[in-house]
Amino acid sequence: MKRKELLVAAIENGTVIDHIPSDKLFDVVSLLHLERMKTAVTVGFNLKSKITDQGHKSIIKIADKFFTDEELNQLSVVAPNVTLCLIRDYEVVEKRQVEMPDTLEGIVRCPNIKCITNNEPMRTRFRVTNRELGILQCCYCNKDLPLSEVKIVEQQ
Ligand SMILES: [Zn+2]
Repeated sequence: MKRKELLVAAIENGTVIDHIPSDKLFDVVSLLHLERMKTAVTVGFNLKSKITDQGHKSIIKIADKFFTDEELNQLSVVAPNVTLCLIRDYEVVEKRQVEMPDTLEGIVRCPNIKCITNNEPMRTRFRVTNRELGILQCCYCNKDLPLSEVKIVEQQ
């Protein structure tokens, strides 16, 4: 990362999630439970960007925290094009994209109000049926759900 691109203060160790579409920032915060974090979390909202469609992006820096691949891959549901940077000693030691998992558990709400997951206290479960078109399917009621219409489960 070039110096001049550092719009938010550098961190010594931790995770940077970059190129978050600004309208998805709060979904990302919620999916990663950042409100429960004990270490420093820095959020840059509506920063200038040439990469996202809207011409602005958001970025989150979480000090002293490294997430599991499973946690990070959940982000693919709301923000498939984010860039993840792992920082050690102020250096980017790894940079990668998120990957859509085959199944999503407890992340996405089923749009079918009659679905058992909306009527019983249980985790939702979706499989990815079409990666190219971004189509999910509920494992309980078989309702199709395009990624563009995904609503994430509210966290308890
Ligand atoms: Zn369902």
